[in-house]
Amino acid sequence: MENNKMKFNAVLDNLKIYEAGKPIELVVREYGVDEKDIIKLASNENPRGCSKKVQDAICKDVSKMNLYPDDSMYELKEKLASRFDVKSTNVIIGAGSDQIISFGVHAKANKNNKVLMAKTTFAMYEIYARQTGTTILKTPSHQHNLSEFLDIYKKNKDIAVIFLCLPNNPLGECLDKDDIYDFLDQIDNDTLVIVDGAYQEYAKYKDAKKEINPKDIISKYPNVLYLGTFSKAYGLGGMRCGYGIASEDMIKALMKLRAPFNITTLSLKAAIVALRDEKFVQDCIRENFEQMSIFEKFVKELGFDYIDSFTNFITLEFKNDQNSSEISEKLLKKGIIVRNLGAYGMNAIRVTIGTASQNLRFMSEFRKIYSNKG
Ligand SMILES: *Cc1c(COP(=O)(O)O)cnc(C)c1O
Repeated sequence: MENNKMKFNAVLDNLKIYEAGKPIELVVREYGVDEKDIIKLASNENPRGCSKKVQDAICKDVSKMNLYPDDSMYELKEKLASRFDVKSTNVIIGAGSDQIISFGVHAKANKNNKVLMAKTTFAMYEIYARQTGTTILKTPSHQHNLSEFLDIYKKNKDIAVIFLCLPNNPLGECLDKDDIYDFLDQIDNDTLVIVDGAYQEYAKYKDAKKEINPKDIISKYPNVLYLGTFSKAYGLGGMRCGYGIASEDMIKALMKLRAPFNITTLSLKAAIVALRDEKFVQDCIRENFEQMSIFEKFVKELGFDYIDSFTNFITLEFKNDQNSSEISEKLLKKGIIVRNLGAYGMNAIRVTIGTASQNLRFMSEFRKIYSNKG
């Protein structure tokens, strides 16, 4: 009875809790900024919201919350299957594609094997992997470098999972499809490759060479789990809905890790209706890249670097005379929330591309801070 402090599984000892982009409420509370003056450019959400059709459909269904959702998720799976020309048995739905990353990792990784990822990539890959007690391997380069991946893969016989984030969050770079396929040709069938396409809608709009076709990739490579989400281009981050596309065998295995009713009735509805309003999505993506080019011009004018981005954010890399933590903190005091990449060992910030007016405000505040007048 004495000394009865609970001990948890050792894998949790060195596991960091995921730190999300600061919510607007926190900036109101801690920095005393008026809510209407706050712009959140920290979580790569769609600044234009979501389709009006989705909003209307959700309002209409709001009285159905007493009912559990259709656990087979029949309609959404059918819609996704026809969108990607696969069978609905090739599809799994998750509470965000995050949940499917977790399923994939838990299906393969354990304390006797290893998981490989780029040095600077989506933080949740490492967190889910660590939950299993596996060993994490990272490439030396921040951005995806396939020859480094291959080198590490060949030197380690026990790599169970490889992550490819295309485009990569938080840096924005994206590899070409042909290079990905050449890489996959050299990977063993028993190694799960998670191809995270959270931002694929943006990448393929900007450059057709980046497009990963889910049907094509899973028919050539049965060891690939392709992931998509409604949280980014579709503007439904708050609804928590993502999907995985893979071979039937893989989907069957992942389904064993799923809790019943793992997304809500309203999330299902939102995703189904969102797929019907492709015009909304395409308009948002076009505007995103129009705004991105204004951003790029601005950064060049101030004379520092950015990473060429294939998605809805841009990563600004500072020289030694500027410090990303200080810059983020000063922006926060003005009510502008961005992501500091200091924790990745980079002197950089990631800025989500906002609406035209949000971006103007960012640029004007940033210019003052950058020239030490802010
Ligand atoms: C946003 C994001 C996801 C998934 O987000 P969900 O909201 O859980 O669908 C997955 N991967 C990357 C790289 C992301 O940036």
